[in-house]
Amino acid sequence: MNFPSKLIEQAVSEFEKLPGIGKKTALRLVLHLLKQDKESVELFSDSIVRMRSLIRFCRNCHNISDNELCSICESLKRNHSLVCVVESIRDVIAIESTNQYHGLYHVLGGVISPLEGIGPEEVNIESLAVRCSNGDVKEVIMALNPTIEGDTTIFYISKKLQSLPVKITSIARGISFGGELEYVDDITLGRSIATRMPYENYLVHRE
Ligand SMILES: [Zn+2]
Repeated sequence: MNFPSKLIEQAVSEFEKLPGIGKKTALRLVLHLLKQDKESVELFSDSIVRMRSLIRFCRNCHNISDNELCSICESLKRNHSLVCVVESIRDVIAIESTNQYHGLYHVLGGVISPLEGIGPEEVNIESLAVRCSNGDVKEVIMALNPTIEGDTTIFYISKKLQSLPVKITSIARGISFGGELEYVDDITLGRSIATRMPYENYLVHRE
């Protein structure tokens, strides 16, 4: 692609670095910005610079936060005895969008992966153990991806917390809504049967 302007070329190459953005989309976005007035483009770029330089991670749960403690950890409406362990901030956003969970979180920032050289000390497990040892946390819900790395991490955490008076549970791993049994893989179907729940609970969760 030949650009008539070095400035445009530079902007396009920056946009292209974003995930899921190819050269054509990058050019479309740059040309769109060029059509906007200067003030709104300044507002756009300023919001990105401010976000990057001012955002921090919650001291308690490692979620993104504007302050030392994130809004979830600070909220008195949340159940502080429940901690949901997730791999990334994207998982917090996904679970929050369900409006079904009212406890706190713990963002690991990754999962244990011996193949990629990621050990337990590279993820936020130690701080989880500290949180669980102060007596406030009664239940830790494992909400990690159903992969070998996810399972390895759950196993490691459960060993680490086993001497503490905390109940460890895991999110259900079953058939997705609208799915068909005959197309579900054996492991998922087997787990769904092994971890079946009373029909009354099923009705409650469907509400
Ligand atoms: Zn927090």
